Amino acid sequence: MKIQYVQGECIFRRISPLPRQYDYLTENVETDVIIVGGGVTGAILGYYFSKQKIKAVILEKSRIAHGSTCISTSLLQYELDSNAMALKSYTSIPNILRSYELGIKALDEIEEFIAENGNTCDFKRVDGLYYTAKDTETKEIEQEYKLRKENGFRVEFIEKETNPFSFDVKAGLLSKGGGAQLNPYKFTHALLEVGSSMGLNVYENTEVLDVRYSEQGVTAETVFGHKVKGKLIIVATGYNTHLFTKRVFGTKTTAFNVATKPIDNLEDILKGVIVRDNEVTYHYFRTTSDNRIIIGGEDTKFLPDILNEELCTKSYDKLEQRLKNLFPKLKIAIEYRYCGAFASTDDNLGFLGKDPKNERLWYCLGYGANGILFSILGGMMLSNLYLGEVNEDLKLFKVDRFE
Ligand SMILES: Cc1cc2nc3c(=O)[nH]c(=O)nc-3n(C[C@H](O)[C@H](O)[C@H](O)COP(=O)(O)OP(=O)(O)OC[C@H]3O[C@@H](n4cnc5c(N)ncnc54)[C@H](O)[C@@H]3O)c2cc1C
Repeated sequence: MKIQYVQGECIFRRISPLPRQYDYLTENVETDVIIVGGGVTGAILGYYFSKQKIKAVILEKSRIAHGSTCISTSLLQYELDSNAMALKSYTSIPNILRSYELGIKALDEIEEFIAENGNTCDFKRVDGLYYTAKDTETKEIEQEYKLRKENGFRVEFIEKETNPFSFDVKAGLLSKGGGAQLNPYKFTHALLEVGSSMGLNVYENTEVLDVRYSEQGVTAETVFGHKVKGKLIIVATGYNTHLFTKRVFGTKTTAFNVATKPIDNLEDILKGVIVRDNEVTYHYFRTTSDNRIIIGGEDTKFLPDILNEELCTKSYDKLEQRLKNLFPKLKIAIEYRYCGAFASTDDNLGFLGKDPKNERLWYCLGYGANGILFSILGGMMLSNLYLGEVNEDLKLFKVDRFE
């Protein structure tokens, strides 16, 4: 059975015009860095490497941003999937706090990119709300709030008596400016546009079928027989890495999103915040620039056969019902339903860096709910690494850290 990584009507592809189409590879090419994958991660890498004047080529087997990028909710937040206390047994509190700081740095980087290149991807810096609707679970929110407050993060605590939201919050942690939202399809294209203007070469419909390593470098063999030679190859293929390594990265699940039609009476307070609850598994929602709500959650065991719509309908229906329960006064009509593979790790971090056994094989894998922010960190740190600057923070994302 062929694994299907994405299924359904992705809102971001549907509501965005196609900004640009890239040619497929029609000749042999030499470069310094071969980036495999033309999703948001590959685009981020392409942007940072070309910004540093390093020659890079992106090879995408299908269309730009048609993989998990276009179904990403693109709810960007510095905090991790689980709170610090829950993660303590997999990593240390200083590591968790450092990853929060890095998340903020990545958010600032995106904001700077937008300031320099224009906001063509509906980017908006917002607050992040992490909350519980259960009286019995307020302590865990308070504990996380105290940890962040004591360590200098801009946070506020919301009690049920002071809840400014129309939905039920028994305790909430509001991270001021701790989040952002954007259109991932447009963001990917914006990165490629800027990257291309700095010398980046992008090829769509150019699948890498084989990779060969030698003393001199690495060669990627592509679908129509053309070769790309480089000094190293970076795997930015999302949840599909088996062509490059036997390593198993993370635990796969299937994650679901539904998006509404534009809502006339959308509350203003919702437009400046991204929201996540503390349930297992958690739910999250955000708004869009055209006043829709996208809600996600109801993750299930990985369904390789997600072509089977019946298997997914239950999760979509639950999400719709949850949204209606949260906002009984809003006129909610669902327009898009889609799902895809999602991979998480024990410490909630992705994988950035070299393969321990192969200097020419690098990874930029934004696993976990903060995938896009991890990829930004990957773009920054890996392009510096190429130039000889080793960033200590790369240790947090080491490829073999669970071995
Ligand atoms: C429902 C859902 C919601 C999510 N929400 C969020 C969120 O709110 N925030 C967040 O940060 N992350 C979120 N994620 C995770 C998010 O999808 C990732 O962070 C991000 O989109 C991954 O982008 P990518 O470029 O790494 O992968 P992809 O977009 O999957 O790109 C990989 C690309 O590699 C290409 N490829 C694969 N093999 C080859 C080959 N052999 N040759 C050439 N090309 C190849 C594929 O065609 C694909 O286009 C979510 C994921 C899901 C499923």
